[in-house]
Formats: sequence, structure tokens, C-alpha cells
Amino acid sequence: GQTLGILGGGQLGRMFCHAAQSMGYKVVVFEPHMASPAGSVAEYEVVASYDDEEGLTKLLDYTNAVTTEFENVPATSLKYLSMQARVSPSAAAVAVVQDRIAEKAFIASQGIDVAPYAEIRTLADLEQVPTTLFPGILKAARLGYDGKGQARVKTLDEAVEAFKSFGEVPCVLEAMLPLKKEISVVMARGFSGDVVTFPVGVNTHINGILSSSVVGIESISSIIEQKAKDAAIKIASGLNYFGVMCVEFFILEDDSVVANEIAPRPHNSGHYTMNACLTSQFEQQVRVLAGMPLGATDLLAPTIMLNILGDSWFIDSQEAKEPDWDKVLALPGVHLHLYGKAEARKGRKMGHVNIVNKDPQQVLHYARQVSEILHLNAHV
Ligand code: ATP
Ligand code: MG
Ligand code: MG
Repeated sequence: GQTLGILGGGQLGRMFCHAAQSMGYKVVVFEPHMASPAGSVAEYEVVASYDDEEGLTKLLDYTNAVTTEFENVPATSLKYLSMQARVSPSAAAVAVVQDRIAEKAFIASQGIDVAPYAEIRTLADLEQVPTTLFPGILKAARLGYDGKGQARVKTLDEAVEAFKSFGEVPCVLEAMLPLKKEISVVMARGFSGDVVTFPVGVNTHINGILSSSVVGIESISSIIEQKAKDAAIKIASGLNYFGVMCVEFFILEDDSVVANEIAPRPHNSGHYTMNACLTSQFEQQVRVLAGMPLGATDLLAPTIMLNILGDSWFIDSQEAKEPDWDKVLALPGVHLHLYGKAEARKGRKMGHVNIVNKDPQQVLHYARQVSEILHLNAHV
């Protein structure tokens, strides 16, 4: 059969591989490190850095259809690949999304609200920001994730200190908003412009890292849900985006909907789809890349996704010790997904569980038990 290519060898790439393989495709993973979660399950692997032309050429020996699980692939590399292969998403779309300055300006240009912010390229820029941006969050424009490359700052002095500690790289300074809820819209857009959105989940973060997504239980008003979906679709079509994409939104105390950021790939908050929807976000990514029709996104039952960090390996010892999965899997409707990472580290995403049940109260009940067994402290 055909071979599909993916840039990035992390857990998202691994779950893409599984979805592609179950549909009869082979996968080639392009990733700078050996023995990555995705590389170790793919049929083929190219180990090279993302800007290595020789490596990219080697990738093209295997495939003429390439997607990405990692938004920081240089746009120039995507452009290079696109001369010989179908690349989804495109270099142009990824270039916007991988730079918070371009990303925020783009979202605002589509008439969608973003947090009040200022572009910070120099100390002088910072000294001119309005005081209304404090307390705020200074975010490096590039390469941040899981709250890394961010500093919460109460005053201009703290912002200056943080900016210096980042090495004075380009940043945005955002006003800290009073969040009522965080939601995300995961969607897929095919090459013919057809669009599907997945059911909207409510996300909770601990220390800047996604902890849980709750779907079909907490009610979000249909007006808010539709507003977020419309905004996500507008962003995708405005970017000429083909593939799976996620837009994170804040819901404020007054129910206004503010776009936070775009992920040009399947997203952690869409992992619930693997057991809860007619089509998973990874199958959708395969379908787009292979030029097939998109799948239905119906929710089969209320679901909670809980992330498992490496912390669960260090509950009662300094040495990593695998958690007791038996206890978790003995609960009804619990599905375990582990990423095959070589080493558990605190704060590192090691896997997730999806808890699915027709009865919303049962989902909550079992999610709380899973959280207790694995010491996740999830706010569910
Ligand atoms: P991700 O892992 O989602 O890519 P990230 O490092 O890119 O994370 P953001 O999504 O920008 O970071 O922020 C992480 C979290 O910090 C948000 O989900 C939200 O909880 C909080 N946060 C970010 N910006 C703001 C803001 N302007 N006001 C209030 N809270 C915020
Ligand atoms: Mg991010
Ligand atoms: Mg985020």
C-alpha cells in the first residue's frame, strides 16, 4: 500500500501511525532522535534534523504525502517538501501558527477576539506597553508549549526581568484574563474545503499542562459552542488550512469567547475522540492526508480524558516505578493509552486514559477513581 509521511516522532506521531496502519497504510517517521515513540512503531524512519535537506530528500524516497505532528518544523522545510509531495498543513499556514505574533495578528484580522496584547521585540517596546496589560503573561513568540517559555508578570519590572531571562527573544505580553472555562475546538478540513468539527470539550490545566478534557458532561451553552466552532472554521479557511487543527479558547466571566492559540495538528484535548467518537482525530488526519472523505465526528457517550504525567511513576519512591494499570483497567469504560517513552520524568506526558460511559455521573465517578489511583489530582 501507499506510505504516508509524518514529521515528528512524539506521541501524536505515534497515534497517527496506529491510525494509518489500521487503515492499511505504511508510515515513514521523520524525527531528529532515535527510538522515538512514533519512530519505534513506524515501518520506516528517517533520523535527521528538521532543516537537513539530505534527510528531507530521503523522506521523499518513501512518500509523496507528508503531515506533521510538531508545529515547530521550519516552514522552509515544509516548502521544500511541497515541491515534490502533498504537504498538509502547508508551509504558509504553519508559518503563521508557529509565531505567536503572527498568529495573534492573524486571528484578530479575522474579526475574532484575542486577549489584549502587545508585540515585544525590544526592551523599548516593553517600556511602552499600557498598564492595562498588567497583571499579564509574557510569552515567547516561538517554541513554547505546556506553559514553557512563559512568565506571569504583575508589573513592568517583572516583565523586564522575564524578557531578559528569555534572552530578549520576540514575545507577546498578554493581559491576564479572568477565565471561567477553557474549551477547544478540534476540527478537520479536507482538500476540497469540507469541514468537520468534533464535540467541544472543557479543559483543565495544572501548572500550565493540560490535565483533563471533559466532553458531554459539563454543559457549555450551544451559543458559546457555536461561536467557538464558527471562529475555528473561519481561522482554518482563512489560513487555507488542510488537515486537523485545534483552536484553544477562553470563556470569560461575561461569557465572551476569546481565542488563545492554534495547534496545526491533532491536539491533546482531542485525545478523547480515540474512544468516544465515530472517527478519531488521528484517523481524520490520515483521511485528509490520503485525500479520502472525512469521517463523522459524533460523540458516542460522555467521556473524560485524563493525562498521565511521569509524576505517577514517582508516588512512593525516588526511582521510577510503573503505576498499577490493573487497578485502572478494572474500572468499566476505561481505556489506557501509553506512549512508549523510554524514561518517565516529572511533568512529562507519558500517556492518557479515556473514561467513557453512557451515564455522565458514572464517568465522573470512575474518572475520580482513576485520578486517585494514579495521584493525578485532576479537577473532575
Ligand atoms: P500548550 O501546551 O497548550 O501549547 P502553551 O505553552 O502554548 O500551552 P498557552 O496555551 O498560551 O501556553 O497557555 C497555557 C495556559 O495558561 C492556558 O491554557 C491558560 O490556562 C493559561 N493562560 C494563558 N494565557 C492566559 C491569559 N491571557 N489569561 C489567563 N490565563 C492564560
Ligand atoms: Mg501552545
Ligand atoms: Mg495552549
